[in-house]
Amino acid sequence: MRLSALFSSTLRETPAGVTHEGLRLLVRAGYVRLLEGGQRAYLPLGQRALSKLARLLESAVCSIGAQPVAVPEVHAFAPLARSVVRSYRQLPQIAYALELGGAAPRFHLWTLTRTAEEDARLHDSVLQALRSAFEQAGLVVQQTEHGLARFNDAGEALLAKCDTCGYLDFADWAQFARTAVSSAEARLPLERVYTPACKTIESLAQFLGIPTAATAKALFFVAAFERNERLVFAVVRGDLRVSEAKLRSALGAHALRPASELEIRSIGAEPGFASPVGLVRDGRWLLVVDPSIVETPNLVAGANAPDYHLRNTNYGRDYTADLVAEIAMAPEGSQCARCGAPLRWVRGDALVHEQQHVYEGTYLDPAGNERTPLLRLYSAALDDLLCALALTYRDEFGLTLPTSVAPYHVHLVVLGKDEATYRQAETLYTQLLHQNIEALFDDRSESPGVKFNDADLIGAPVRLTVSARSLQAGGVEMRFRAKKETMLVPLEAVVERVSAALA
Ligand SMILES: [Zn+2]
Repeated sequence: MRLSALFSSTLRETPAGVTHEGLRLLVRAGYVRLLEGGQRAYLPLGQRALSKLARLLESAVCSIGAQPVAVPEVHAFAPLARSVVRSYRQLPQIAYALELGGAAPRFHLWTLTRTAEEDARLHDSVLQALRSAFEQAGLVVQQTEHGLARFNDAGEALLAKCDTCGYLDFADWAQFARTAVSSAEARLPLERVYTPACKTIESLAQFLGIPTAATAKALFFVAAFERNERLVFAVVRGDLRVSEAKLRSALGAHALRPASELEIRSIGAEPGFASPVGLVRDGRWLLVVDPSIVETPNLVAGANAPDYHLRNTNYGRDYTADLVAEIAMAPEGSQCARCGAPLRWVRGDALVHEQQHVYEGTYLDPAGNERTPLLRLYSAALDDLLCALALTYRDEFGLTLPTSVAPYHVHLVVLGKDEATYRQAETLYTQLLHQNIEALFDDRSESPGVKFNDADLIGAPVRLTVSARSLQAGGVEMRFRAKKETMLVPLEAVVERVSAALA
């Protein structure tokens, strides 16, 4: 590619408001532009880097038998699979999709398996394959309980880590040891209590002079499944927060959104004063309760009437749930569920998220019985991966991306204006192309300073400089982007040396 024709330009200054150091460099180097509203648009350099990243992931998962599909949206895989998979003979399946267009390039992978053992086996090989792809891209990754991440003090993800046993997960998924609560306490009778305007747990606890841990917190969501939506009533102890990630996973739902007041009232609950006590369970909505509720007797909970609460609500006596599941977020300072040591919260980048989903379909087993396969979805945000790479591979002059993801491998610079030098550079450019070496040829009539600055910003691993001076000295200047020293290579040996360096 000739730089004079490349659809791109480098920037001296970064537009205001870009705080991610990796993204800042990608913008300056002409890989990415931010459109109005902050949306990212990819120029050819960025698109090439994204494609290379995608191909690394693709070839890694193909090596374990994954096959490509294209679906209009990520959750359309299930209906697609339902239309194909009828028999146990067609399982297991691994499918993937690359979405390189649009503002949010994504990589998705699905596994469809028959048994928990098969699912676990495939899960291990998928993570191993993805991990090897990231390593080829130059990223050191950590396996978490729900995907892959890497440590990064400037990262946007929060991870919970146990230094004693090595447990690691995204903070909103992290399991924690629950402090033992005595359940020996006698279950007291329900008592209606006037609590004017106590719409929050904090105001309620303050009004009654009790700790927040003596209350039950009610939250309402609408969970999206493949074929329908359902209202979900989630209850955790008042001192805890609901982890939407855990709740979504416990339900096997695609997505959650907060329920509207109208939706909350539609099941007889009163927003701000809600509890499951006394509500009609007509099967239209789901009640999900955290173990902290089951374990703690005599909680204060809503009375489903404005300004009233109930004292002494007890799980099992006053109501039961459709599902008891760990849906509480691990509070900072929690202890590891595995070994009891304190968990540490560290910053990082989320590279791959993984979750099981409810599959609304069946296959026939060898005996002709209908069985439900297990569906697991892995997703990687390729744009975030590119930002993570840019953050890792840079210096004060620009990007230093590894060869595996750099948009071009060679940046060929020609200096001076004399025709003989230009001809020599043209010849070298043609030779590189004939050897299938991805070369960017700076044939512009810019000053050496501008050309070198741009070469440093764009960051091709090898820079070749052809000038009257280098030719007089017997060849072409060759320099590796990640190193400082320059060497002179005879013209006839350049292509060979470059090929060897890139291999
Ligand atoms: Zn531990």
